[in-house]
Amino acid sequence: MAERILIAEDDPRLAEMLHEYLGQAGFRVSLAARGADALEQLAAVEFDALVLDLGLPDMDGLDLCRRLRATSDTPVLMLTARGEATDRIVGLELGADDYLPKPFEPRELLARLRTILRRRRGQLPLERPLQFGRLEIDRAAHALRLDGKPCTLTGYQFSLLVALAENAGRVLTRETLMDLAKGEQLDAFDRSIDVHVSRIRAAIEDDPKAPRRIITVRGAGYVFARAQD
Ligand code: CA
Repeated sequence: MAERILIAEDDPRLAEMLHEYLGQAGFRVSLAARGADALEQLAAVEFDALVLDLGLPDMDGLDLCRRLRATSDTPVLMLTARGEATDRIVGLELGADDYLPKPFEPRELLARLRTILRRRRGQLPLERPLQFGRLEIDRAAHALRLDGKPCTLTGYQFSLLVALAENAGRVLTRETLMDLAKGEQLDAFDRSIDVHVSRIRAAIEDDPKAPRRIITVRGAGYVFARAQD
C-alpha cells in the first residue's frame, strides 16, 4: 500500500510541485498550507511522514513539531530557509528526523524521505557498511578499513566521509557537506572543510596528491567517486 505523506508548506508552487513529484514516486500525498490544518490532518489520519516547512503563516513549524511529538512519533523532515541553523538544531532536538535547507532538489527530498521511512520500518540501512572497492565504511561501528586494515579519522572527519560516500557520484558544495556532517562543528569555516578533506585523503587515498576517491571539483566542491578499485 502506498505510504502517506503530509506536506505542510504555504508556498503553493513548491507544495504543488512536491505533490506531483512525490505522487509520481508512488506516495499518497496530502497538502496543508497552514499549521492548524496540518495538525488537524495529522490527528485524523495516520501519516507515514510529515514534510514540514518551518515558516508557516499561522504557526512556528518548531511549535508544530513540538505539539506533534507530544502525541505521535510520525517521522518529520523539516524544510528550512537559509540561515536557520539554530532552528535546525532546535528542530532536531525536538524530535524531527532530518532537515533539508531550501532551495533543494526534489530528488534529494525523495532520497531523505526514503531514508527516514526505511529507518522507521526498522530496516536500518544506515547500519550496513558501505563498500567502495577496497574501502569499507562501517557506519554502525564508526570504523574505516582500507584493504581490511583499520584507518583512523576524527569523529567529524568520519561524518564528512560518510556524507560524501552516501552521496557518491554527486558533487557536494562545502556548505552542503557541513550541513550533512552536522554535529560538533556547525560554525566551521568553509576552508576548514578542505583541511579535513586532506586528512581524510591521507587516510584513504593510495596517493593523496593524486586523489581518486575524493575528487575536487573546481569552484563547486567535492565528489566521492562511485566506482573505485
Ligand atoms: Ca513558508
